[in-house]
Amino acid sequence: MCLEWDKSASSLLEKVPPFVQKTVREKVETLARERGRTRVTEAEVMAARDSFMDKSQPVAGAPQAGKTKPADDKKLSILKKYPKYFDSAGNPVLYQIKPCRGAEVNCPFLITDSKILADKIRNRLEEVKFTEKLMNKIEGQILPHHTLKLAVSGCPNSCSMPQIKDFGVHAVEPVFVDPESACIECMKCVETCREDAITIQDGQVSIDKEKCVHCGLCAKVCPSGSIKAGKKTYRTMVGGKVGRHPKFAVDILPQAEESATLKALDVCVDMILSSKTEHRFRVLLEQQGIEEIKKRL
Ligand code: SF4
Ligand code: SF4
Ligand code: SF4
Repeated sequence: MCLEWDKSASSLLEKVPPFVQKTVREKVETLARERGRTRVTEAEVMAARDSFMDKSQPVAGAPQAGKTKPADDKKLSILKKYPKYFDSAGNPVLYQIKPCRGAEVNCPFLITDSKILADKIRNRLEEVKFTEKLMNKIEGQILPHHTLKLAVSGCPNSCSMPQIKDFGVHAVEPVFVDPESACIECMKCVETCREDAITIQDGQVSIDKEKCVHCGLCAKVCPSGSIKAGKKTYRTMVGGKVGRHPKFAVDILPQAEESATLKALDVCVDMILSSKTEHRFRVLLEQQGIEEIKKRL
């Protein structure tokens, strides 16, 4: 259940960029609950900010001393301020995977539980020893922007924001018109489609492929089976970033099965680890060209 927010606390939240407000709100409320508060005040927002920025006490889960090799301690000294770059045993983890919470909250838009693919991505990064190899590759201090950001969402609504991650994926459920099933012109699909992609005329169903985002919702509401859902797949995009010059990720696989998605991950990881520079992934992509990745998929 959401906590009530004071006016002053709400004004502080409004200053945060809109696309991260939801996440910040959740984090502030979680911390406020942990502090036994039933209402969010300005003090709660500031305490949360201090906690995120590590301006106060060590945060639960923060890396413990002596868990990394002395040679790596210097490299990791900046990341050590942020618990999210370490596992519960204090080992560095130079990637963050954010799944959406669709399955957890029984989201009505859910196509595929994002945590399933997120776990496979995590396993893959562990198998290839991504953290170890990235640490060896970077000569100086490891900074937050060196780490790989990934997100998986259970539907095109993209709550975990794959569009601004280095490697982002969301589930899709393409639909098609089945000419064998007669449309009864109930218009439920038209009412359901938020993209205004469906037209019905004289019992003929037409879906505008340019507008359709493959959410699969029209197939779910169609009583006659005139619109059917195809195979659930994933859309993969790469190179999204925020910061000084934000960029949206670029599509590399608009609709692909899990195995192809994981292969795309392998290609991106190889590109990062074999690069001689320490540039952000987006910069590497722009230097080498998105077509280079596509050729290797
Ligand atoms: S991305 Fe889709 S499935 Fe996941 S929480 Fe958001 S709306 Fe629900
Ligand atoms: S799949 Fe979604 S976006 Fe595409 S036509 Fe159906 S409801 Fe509209
Ligand atoms: S929901 Fe199905 S039956 Fe109803 S108008 Fe759309 S295609 Fe026709």
